[in-house]
Amino acid sequence: MLTWLETLFGRTINEFIGPVLPSSHLFVLYLGSALVISMATYFWFSRAEASVRPEGVKKGMFGYIFDPSIWLHKSARQDYVFFVTNSLIYYGIVAHFLISSHMVFEAIGRGLNAYWGVRAVPLFEPSVASTLVFTFVSVLAIDFTIFITHYIQHKVAALWHFHAVHHSAEVLTVMTVSRQHPVDLFITGTVMVVLTQTVFASFSYLTLAEPSQFAVMNVNTILFAFFVVGYNLRHSHIWLSYPPWLSYIFISPAQHQTHHSVDDKHFDKNFGFIFAIWDWMFGTLYVPRGYEKLEYGLSREEPNPFASVREIYLKPFRLFWGEIKSIAKPRLSTRTAKPDRSQDVTERISKQG
Ligand SMILES: [Zn+2]
Ligand SMILES: [Zn+2]
Repeated sequence: MLTWLETLFGRTINEFIGPVLPSSHLFVLYLGSALVISMATYFWFSRAEASVRPEGVKKGMFGYIFDPSIWLHKSARQDYVFFVTNSLIYYGIVAHFLISSHMVFEAIGRGLNAYWGVRAVPLFEPSVASTLVFTFVSVLAIDFTIFITHYIQHKVAALWHFHAVHHSAEVLTVMTVSRQHPVDLFITGTVMVVLTQTVFASFSYLTLAEPSQFAVMNVNTILFAFFVVGYNLRHSHIWLSYPPWLSYIFISPAQHQTHHSVDDKHFDKNFGFIFAIWDWMFGTLYVPRGYEKLEYGLSREEPNPFASVREIYLKPFRLFWGEIKSIAKPRLSTRTAKPDRSQDVTERISKQG
């Protein structure tokens, strides 16, 4: 009985015990480092000119970092409730339908053997260099997967309705990253399994060995470093930008914050996770040149279409269905006609109740 429950809700439990799990973005070390960086950011801004200083800085360090108007905002409170419900609904139920990593790995391996022939000798022997390469390649695979699915979730109107849930957050806190519709998570999870296991199986095929990577507390070293250097600030009001040249290589927290901005100039920009190179290649990179006061959400003018957690779950399905029905009718793409995501979502919502 206990084993059955553990199997069913193992991932849900992992969500709730994030602070003690190095694989969770809520691991206490990552939260601690985000706090230290927030404090450093406060000191930096408190010495800056008033014209380039976030308003919240005048509330003092504690008031700036733990601003109750952000942490207790209706949108943030919705995030806290949604985190609990989605840990049960997505990780307790939906995620069990994800394709098995092991199955994909085996299938790709068999395909490579059938097409290219079974290798007798490895292309290169496992070594420190090959481990180093795999550590980097596996992060690139994860990073590209997140970029390309994120890009598609914005560009395909039917899928945007599910992703809009993440963008409907009006304030950003460390919990906003969990504000993702189960369908959105399932799409990313599926592409993640297929792409990463293809890379892993290819590596295994070439080396005739299980690929290994450098890790800290069982987390890929590069990912670990990424979480430590302020990952949690990307969903926060703490502005941390990099020098422009570095913003072409890595996505800074500020760059992800601009991704959430309602401003037209930030629309469909900065889809990346760790590396900015994909956005650079796809022409979607936005590099801030200094502090920018941002407003978050789907629209400046329209109210948030997701008034309750129940609507967060159900409304995207209604909009998705409306999108499917309208595919048969020739029309101008809403996105092409109006490059404003708020109009895309709210107009459709108002049409469909
Ligand atoms: Zn997005
Ligand atoms: Zn986000």
